[in-house]
Amino acid sequence: MTHADTIRSLEVRLVSWPLKMKRRHGVGDVDKVLPGVILRLTSEDGTIGWGEAAPWSVFSGTAEANLAALDVYLRPLIIGRRACEVAQIMDASAHALVGHGEAKAALEMALYDLWGRSAGLRVADLLGGVFREAIPLSVSIANPDFEADLEFLDERLADGVRLFKVKTGFLTHREDLARLEALKARMPRDAEIRIDYNQGLEPYGAVAKLRDMERFSPGFIEQPVKRHQRAAMGDLARAIDTPILADESVFNPAEAADLVAARYADAVSIKLMKAGGLTAARTIAAITGAVGIPAYGGTMYEAGIALTAGIHLVAATPNLSLGAEFYTSTFVLGVEILRNPVRLEGGHSHLPSGPGLGIEIDEDALDRVTVQTLR
Ligand SMILES: [Mg+2]
Repeated sequence: MTHADTIRSLEVRLVSWPLKMKRRHGVGDVDKVLPGVILRLTSEDGTIGWGEAAPWSVFSGTAEANLAALDVYLRPLIIGRRACEVAQIMDASAHALVGHGEAKAALEMALYDLWGRSAGLRVADLLGGVFREAIPLSVSIANPDFEADLEFLDERLADGVRLFKVKTGFLTHREDLARLEALKARMPRDAEIRIDYNQGLEPYGAVAKLRDMERFSPGFIEQPVKRHQRAAMGDLARAIDTPILADESVFNPAEAADLVAARYADAVSIKLMKAGGLTAARTIAAITGAVGIPAYGGTMYEAGIALTAGIHLVAATPNLSLGAEFYTSTFVLGVEILRNPVRLEGGHSHLPSGPGLGIEIDEDALDRVTVQTLR
């Protein structure tokens, strides 16, 4: 028997996002274009659910692998199933395919979007209800052209943004200190600096470098050392006063449990693309929240679909209390595929009001970034 939310077809696209600015991180650079994946599910009554995978090859996986994951391995698990069977479908996906968290995140958000549209409820409502409609916005200072970044900082301050994450660890320590000095001097007293090394520091000598950073009173220092150097990260967390936040070290709920057991960091960055979807992301928040470790809403290089899924996640998850960085579709990607772009206002990102994810896709814009379509 079919229902209004029974899935009839799946279309998956490889896309190429043009970029408005260069980005530099301890883990690698981003310049000119980035590949991504867009998923469209259509139900028997024509309702559509949208999903997006935003892999980053130096951080998680590749767009090409996630395209194949959806087209070849996950497609057979979805056709003929109801979108409201999302937990069962995601359980089957975990058994059918190891890894490919970005593809699974795309699938799960598309199922929720379709389910929400057919039920007339927001995804955040389906997740149990809204704790916050507005989420403090953090923007990252990561442009190798530092003059351009100072201008970017001034514009965001004028917009009301008060959380700034400075990417460090790709220049010398002395240059990082000089950048922070210049940024701090331009910021009002109510603005908060956070520092993200993206694994860029060697453990040897790292304590002295982080102590130097503490003079800027950062809210937290993110992922100073490599993903697997958890003991070194714990040493750093105990040596300095500033909280250490784990990003690359915690991808999934099992790694969140390791963090709770070893207490090698004070906070955690949760990303839909690392976790492999909304449910896994909320499980991480629950595991760390149980012992008082708060979470931050991180991103890779998402466009509007995945960023909006992130907004629903943070809106519905109380322990995601450290703000979130839902700005890439606005400031970094060169093509906007939403007719109603992510709303950034007064230093916050805002939950949309429509059913499902609450987004409307500009199909002409989507066609312009599409490289390959698989049906
Ligand atoms: Mg990070």
